Amino acid sequence: MKLLVIEDNQALVANLFDYFEARGHVLDAAPDGLTGLHLAVCHDYDAIVLDWGLPRLDGRELLRKLRQEAGKDTPVIMLTARDELADKISGFRSGADDYLTKPFALPELEVRLEAVLARAAGQGRQRVLQVDDLRLDLGTLEVSRGGATLRLYPACRKLLEVLMRASPDVVSRARLEETLWGDSPPDTDLLRSHMYELRRVVDAGSATPLVHTVPRAGYRLARLADGGGAADA
Ligand code: CA
Repeated sequence: MKLLVIEDNQALVANLFDYFEARGHVLDAAPDGLTGLHLAVCHDYDAIVLDWGLPRLDGRELLRKLRQEAGKDTPVIMLTARDELADKISGFRSGADDYLTKPFALPELEVRLEAVLARAAGQGRQRVLQVDDLRLDLGTLEVSRGGATLRLYPACRKLLEVLMRASPDVVSRARLEETLWGDSPPDTDLLRSHMYELRRVVDAGSATPLVHTVPRAGYRLARLADGGGAADA
């Protein structure tokens, strides 16, 4: 496999190269977050081993940019120090496929890499998301409903992707805000504006609304048998 290691601990990087190259794998390494993001976006790796604490751009922010701005779904295993773990769990939701706490045994990393690769292959690198007659192509970023192309701002498209992946489940406001703004949501209720716009585009001219507000919980994207019920904000 072709592996990218983004890690500023050079001794650990050297160990990873020794171990994985001896097993026939090809590795690239980046010593900081910006270099790592550049490599991850410009090349197609089978998997990425990503350190949490990195100079220039930390692992979590790198992952957010990789998933949401670059739209890359390369499997990622996050490395973190054990004492950092508690407040990092939420970060893994933002797109890591697995994580390991340091120090770890190299065979364990190998097993976990094989597992995320198998999982990714099993999902067939899902390229098109579909809910009812609404489609989002993750490759071309085209959105359509009933065959008609829809024009969405990037922020709305990101929200749509999260809602489509979760459908028919409810997605909390906090998770949607994290999708767009990471740890620093704006003071104003911008999420509501984006959701208003998303609903306007997706449900305009359709007899079947798909975007639904769930009071005091969040939003969901689904075709509901009873038309939704809840008043939409
Ligand atoms: Ca580090």
